[in-house]
Amino acid sequence: MIKKIQAIRGMNDTLPSQTAIWQKLESLLRQVVSSYGYSEIRMPIVERTELFKRAIGEVTDVVEKEMYTFIDRNGESLTLRPEGTASCVRAGNEHGLLYNQERRMWYCGAMFRHERPQKGRYRQFHQFGIETFGIATPDIDAEIILLSARLWKLLGIEERVELHINSLGSNATREVYKDALSKFLMQHESVLDDDSKRRMLTNPLRVLDSKNPAVQAVLVNAPKLSAYYDQPSIEHFEQLQTYLQASGVKFIVNEGLVRGLDYYNRTVFEWVTTSLGSQGTICAGGRYDGLVEQLGGKATPAVGFAMGLERIVLILDALTLSSDIKSDVDIYTVLVGDKTELAGFKMAELIRSELPQLKVMHHCGAGNFKKQMKRADKSGARLALIIAGSELEDGTVTIKDLEGKTQQKTIMMEELITVLTQIFYKK
Ligand code: ATP
Ligand code: MG
Repeated sequence: MIKKIQAIRGMNDTLPSQTAIWQKLESLLRQVVSSYGYSEIRMPIVERTELFKRAIGEVTDVVEKEMYTFIDRNGESLTLRPEGTASCVRAGNEHGLLYNQERRMWYCGAMFRHERPQKGRYRQFHQFGIETFGIATPDIDAEIILLSARLWKLLGIEERVELHINSLGSNATREVYKDALSKFLMQHESVLDDDSKRRMLTNPLRVLDSKNPAVQAVLVNAPKLSAYYDQPSIEHFEQLQTYLQASGVKFIVNEGLVRGLDYYNRTVFEWVTTSLGSQGTICAGGRYDGLVEQLGGKATPAVGFAMGLERIVLILDALTLSSDIKSDVDIYTVLVGDKTELAGFKMAELIRSELPQLKVMHHCGAGNFKKQMKRADKSGARLALIIAGSELEDGTVTIKDLEGKTQQKTIMMEELITVLTQIFYKK
């Protein structure tokens, strides 16, 4: 036997039974962001490696160990995008979308990270993200958080998620804090694990979100980032909280929340659920006022987030909300006897032209009545439209309600569209 070729580990197919929930989620997302005035941007999946190194930071999990990087045929180092923000800023700078203007943009697509695959963590996964540019005030930070909260509500998962917020202060004060934290960690080096020891010098903030309980125990007495905030950052954070409180959005101030990418300053936040184990963060973001300039543009304030769609689908699956969404067909055509095939074929096309919202599955490949009715049942269709030999002669078609709600009836072909309109659209 010839060996089957399998998909790459951590890169999944989304099968037809699952795509309905994805489509519903994506269309809801599009609807919500457009109600806030955001427009879509599409970026390439491959970028120069340098972009992610410079934007995300050399000493981050993503750049150190998760990127899919390769040399292309021209000898250039390229990387499959691990996230969308860097590409979005690159595109914005390249096309003059950012300087001296306000922008609200969204994107949706596949991202790639070489991580250990497990539930909620894959090597190809999908993010929906928004990025806003040119607005420095905390009202926009609040707006994007409210936008995400609205989505949880529409999805019916608002009881399952929790909002954590923090401020990282300014880039300048964060550097001062990093030194203090680094000194503190060096004094406790003996209890740190290898990862933390390395980061203690290169990127001490990353030690704060270590999952190691021994490291967390040491951190209880570590200097606090909040003690280093400058006055404008304090005000920004207070105003954000005022906006959230006034909008009835509950939140937890979590001083341990530092986020894994280097470009953030001031506001950072995560929406976390307890129903997915350690893959609990379904949406994460924050302010990154320095990034546009760092990537060669003119200084432009920015704030955004990205959500992991697989994790949201997992929550919906767990709630069995996804099984309510059917992609079933509405009508299945059944054609018995010589010459009915062509009449049936034309009838299906007529319905698709006149009532384009209906899903019409035409029976192909002939076969006896029983077999065709079985297929009709299996398709999940609400109605079977039957043309048998006698119907063809009389110019009629028989409508059978497969859910058994109404009596079977035979009508003239000319009445078909009117009758279907009655059945599907008039209650
Ligand atoms: P985590 O702490 O779970 O590794 P992260 O901080 O690396 O997440 P971000 O870079 O902030 O993640 O990406 C935003 C969101 O994208 C995450 O909150 C998560 O929902 C999703 N995400 C990130 N990595 C993966 C992955 N490998 N598989 C599935 N979803 C992911
Ligand atoms: Mg990660």
